[in-house]
Amino acid sequence: MNADPLEIQKFSELAHRWWDPTSEFGPLHDINPLRLEWINARAPLAGKKVIDIGCGGGILTESMAKKGADATGIDLSEKALKVADLHSLEAEVQVRYQCISAEDMAAAEPGQYDVVTCMEMLEHVPDPASIVRAAATLVKPGGHVFFSTINRNPKAYLLAVVGAEYVLRMLPRGTHDYAKFLTPAELSQFIRAAGLQLDAIKGMTYNPLTKIYALNQDTDVNYMVACSRPS
Ligand code: SAH
Repeated sequence: MNADPLEIQKFSELAHRWWDPTSEFGPLHDINPLRLEWINARAPLAGKKVIDIGCGGGILTESMAKKGADATGIDLSEKALKVADLHSLEAEVQVRYQCISAEDMAAAEPGQYDVVTCMEMLEHVPDPASIVRAAATLVKPGGHVFFSTINRNPKAYLLAVVGAEYVLRMLPRGTHDYAKFLTPAELSQFIRAAGLQLDAIKGMTYNPLTKIYALNQDTDVNYMVACSRPS
């Protein structure tokens, strides 16, 4: 299976804190409105069938359901999914969560989704190209696919690993493995090889002084891409 058991375990151990905005998942809460609005502007979510790959505790999944999407979240961490499910019950938001790999879901439900999202996950899997192919299989012709990950260069190492894990201690040490970061060129190649078209790329920056996240053209560290499946 295309999964690193230690990665899944890492997220499972922290899962109970997933919805605590002061926890190590705080950055995901902080960036969520930005990524949600970017996705919703490019692929209006109301009434759409959406699948969120590597959904974790469901921060993005639930917010997409709140926008009116018929949302499914998949992950391989049972604990994270349990937290996600409980939170959606409390929030009274309808979401379907399932413990299944992206590849198995793609085999089971090909071409069933208007929108596929896969955020902050590719840098945690052994074979990210296989996840990109699964996303391309899940989406309907004419549908949209969104990925986010971390670029690989000295600045990304300095900010995403040294800065976030050691200096600011926003994330536990060992959260990110620099070798698994993906350059936009590498991700674009996976996207094209999977038969998707790359539509847009957006940078995401964090200012530690103001503690403000922003979307812009700076893709040096964190970035998102929007793609579509030709109809
Ligand atoms: N996408 C969510 C969570 C990101 S954290 C968000 O952005 O809010 C990364 C998630 O990827 C964790 O929940 C982890 O369990 C999951 N993950 C890691 N490897 C995976 C794999 N091979 N298959 C499915 N999920 C995986």
